[in-house]
Amino acid sequence: MAALFVVTYGVIALYYARQRATAWFMVSYLLGFLTPICHLLILYTDQVALFSLLGYGVFLGGIVMMAVGIQAFVGRRPQWRLALLLWAAGIGLRLVIWDGARNTLPYELLFQLPFAVAAIAVMLVARQIGQAGPIRAMLVGIFGVIAAHFLLKPFLVVSLGSGPTPKSYLGSVYAVVSQISTGVLLVAAGLCLLLLVIQKALEETILDAETDPLTGLTNRRGLYRVGPRLLVEATLRGEGLHALFLDLDHFKAINDRHGHATGDSVLVAFARVLQDLVATDMLAVRMGGEEFAVLIPHDTTGMRAARLADAIRDALKPFAEKGLPALTVSGGIVRYRASETLDGLIAHADQLAYRAKRAGRDRILQEPLDRSSERSDIGWAEGPRLVAG
Ligand code: GH3
Ligand code: MG
Ligand code: MG
Repeated sequence: MAALFVVTYGVIALYYARQRATAWFMVSYLLGFLTPICHLLILYTDQVALFSLLGYGVFLGGIVMMAVGIQAFVGRRPQWRLALLLWAAGIGLRLVIWDGARNTLPYELLFQLPFAVAAIAVMLVARQIGQAGPIRAMLVGIFGVIAAHFLLKPFLVVSLGSGPTPKSYLGSVYAVVSQISTGVLLVAAGLCLLLLVIQKALEETILDAETDPLTGLTNRRGLYRVGPRLLVEATLRGEGLHALFLDLDHFKAINDRHGHATGDSVLVAFARVLQDLVATDMLAVRMGGEEFAVLIPHDTTGMRAARLADAIRDALKPFAEKGLPALTVSGGIVRYRASETLDGLIAHADQLAYRAKRAGRDRILQEPLDRSSERSDIGWAEGPRLVAG
């Protein structure tokens, strides 16, 4: 089973650059895999002391490496020194009790103590994994059980006995029980870590799929996942939500005059402006081409949207000083009406942006508040208000 995990984590680390940290899980299970090999060498060679110590060292190293691996996996700097200290202290303790009386509680407790401490270290590290969730809870729980099981083993060995030497231990009933219980728990830990890897890979894939590669803004796919939730929340809270639609003016001319690469730089610079100005509760989206949208929750009057629109227009003024082509934007701000769809809301704001274009561009129009009745069509008697322009 350990070898299977070695292969699994190795393949993931090899083929998926972003999941390279799984290489540490591979190393961990490789060390675990060497433990039974050391046991075989104890049985079939004369180097009992050497392979006893080696078996102890690789097994302890395997557990410590799991803590290191989890730290690397969640993007923290692994605490190598602490890990090495833990491992060396364990080996030191093993050497100290080398000639101790086997099958006595003090000896067996001191024998298992480093494993229990290493398992507790993994538990503590696992608690630092990003968000709380069932997989994290499961991992922390499994390593809690593993730590407890190392501390219970001394009581079991004292009652069952394991013979006077490492060779006799390997032939004892206690050895069978001990190895099986440890094996089962480490398989559970390996599967749980695998779930963690899968979860992270899925989250990263979804984020990739929902991010516009040029600007780093959320794309339309992301809007359709997150947007409906914002609308539902706005309805449930009874708070207003506004949508701001933005279309860069004469963008084609920028491409034609300065080249596509400069056009791209303008899009990136504009996206940076949006990213800098939108609050964390807002959702800024590149709808496609040179069209952007922002969903603005907690905005009953449209004031937040109007202020954002002003700030965006202000931020475009220094574009020419930064060596970028001068840029203006046209847009529309509309209030979300309960029961309106996301598509309806965006289309509504887009139509208002279109009116801003026809009115001469370089302006952002806002639907008057008293028009926010339950209508999905646009038909202003007085016409939209100019809020920024
Ligand atoms: P208007 O003021 O009416 O909005 O005019 P416009 O030129 O901005 O609008 P139009 O729809 O005619 O042209 C949009 C241009 O945006 C056309 C397209 O080549 C360009 N475009 C779309 N996506 C990209 C992109 O990713 N990079 C670059 N450089 N240009 C893009
Ligand atoms: Mg356009
Ligand atoms: Mg345009």
